[in-house]
Amino acid sequence: MPYPDPPDIPPPHHHHPDRYAQVKQSGVCPLCLSKLEKTRKGGRYQWRCSACSATRRRDLLCGSCGTHRVWYGKLGAVCKGCGKAVTL
Ligand SMILES: [Zn+2]
Ligand SMILES: [Zn+2]
Repeated sequence: MPYPDPPDIPPPHHHHPDRYAQVKQSGVCPLCLSKLEKTRKGGRYQWRCSACSATRRRDLLCGSCGTHRVWYGKLGAVCKGCGKAVTL
């Protein structure tokens, strides 16, 4: 056996990352998934995305999970609580 068998590498497993998990991640814009900036005090993340100008709209209610964690911008409306798109 002159050449050893190539190591048995499993094909790249395209484990579909949970799309919703990404959206729900803290510090990430649920619409464009850009990183959010922190408030000046360094406490919480801003409720505004500097990349796509989406803002968290406390007046919008998510029909899926019933919380007011909907972000709204030119890309649409997505709930940060459950990660689902919100139809307005
Ligand atoms: Zn954004
Ligand atoms: Zn929701």
